[in-house]
Amino acid sequence: MAYEQLKQEVIAYSKEIGIDKIGFASAEPFAELKARLKEQQELGYASGFEKGTIEERTEPKRLMPGAESLIAIALSYPTRMKNEPKSVKGDRRGMFARASWGTDYHIVLKEKLDKLAAFLQEKLAGFESRSMVDTGELSDRAVAERAGIGFSGKNTLMISPEYGSYIYLGEMITNVPFTPDDTITDGCGTCTKCIDACPTGALVEPGRLNSQACMAFQSLTKGFMPDEHRNKLGNLIYGYETCQVVCPYNRDVDFHHHEEFEPDPELVKPRLLDLLSISNREFKEKFGKMAGSWRGKKPLQRNAILSLAHYKEKAATDKLIELMQQDPRPVIRGTAAWAIGKIGEEKGFDAIEEAMKRESDHEVLVEMEKGLDFRIEHTN
Ligand code: SF4
Repeated sequence: MAYEQLKQEVIAYSKEIGIDKIGFASAEPFAELKARLKEQQELGYASGFEKGTIEERTEPKRLMPGAESLIAIALSYPTRMKNEPKSVKGDRRGMFARASWGTDYHIVLKEKLDKLAAFLQEKLAGFESRSMVDTGELSDRAVAERAGIGFSGKNTLMISPEYGSYIYLGEMITNVPFTPDDTITDGCGTCTKCIDACPTGALVEPGRLNSQACMAFQSLTKGFMPDEHRNKLGNLIYGYETCQVVCPYNRDVDFHHHEEFEPDPELVKPRLLDLLSISNREFKEKFGKMAGSWRGKKPLQRNAILSLAHYKEKAATDKLIELMQQDPRPVIRGTAAWAIGKIGEEKGFDAIEEAMKRESDHEVLVEMEKGLDFRIEHTN
């Protein structure tokens, strides 16, 4: 069978199964990416979540010896929700970043890629493939860029002219020599909005991210949030998206092509105090299908506490005192103590002093001291 005809059939089928954008690329090594990844590693800018060696991440043939081409797919996701609940004083709500709305995109995109693979399997004897979405060795962005899905923005995200950066990416390595698509030229021009808006300077230069400083990464860590970052999340409890929100390519972008990605307003904008009381079982039942639950509830709860502190939410003081006194996790006890101080109620300071008499964890005690330091600020 002529491969060009097969390619057209794959494109037509991809539309049938709801893939918004598809592109084809060669499976040659990603030489430029390899050099960049090495630099990232040397500079200490990697997140630590990356899978595989740099060679595996940049040489598709190491992952599938017969690799001839790569197929990249993109699915758009919504940016606005219907019936958004209001966050009000006394009843604050947190927010999951848009990329976590609806059903976990890893599942949705993997299903689409599996359907594409089954389609090709039927058309071509000896067809081989390997698919991945986000957590595989290959860089979704590098594959998508080579396959003409979009261009890589100065914010290090894939930007498609049609859908902006609000797209999920996935890819498939195949043993079919499909003709590659043209790449799209860089469209950032002289714009630097994302670099200017980043609150931590994580975009150290156009297209280079220090993952360790990125608030999206910081929102996922399980330890104490560094002091200088604690006020930066606002109401976000998972992810961070300022570098997307300010991007001109995302202006008025709001696609609702996929039922799976429609947000449940109560889930993506949960009451912060409710989140602090949730059991493991309830958490799994309620949030388990969202991409934002993959790190478990601890980082979300820590961020919820930081958010309550950010808004100086007095109605939260009693709950925070309870957490500081009783939670078995030092990160939660310590962050609660810091937040109690930041909120600044006298009963909170008294409770910190009491709790210090019984606390034995050094890190928690340090946070309690920091909490008490806010007393000076509040009495001035
Ligand atoms: Fe490029 Fe401007 Fe968007 Fe940043 S904000 S990715 S510089 S277009």
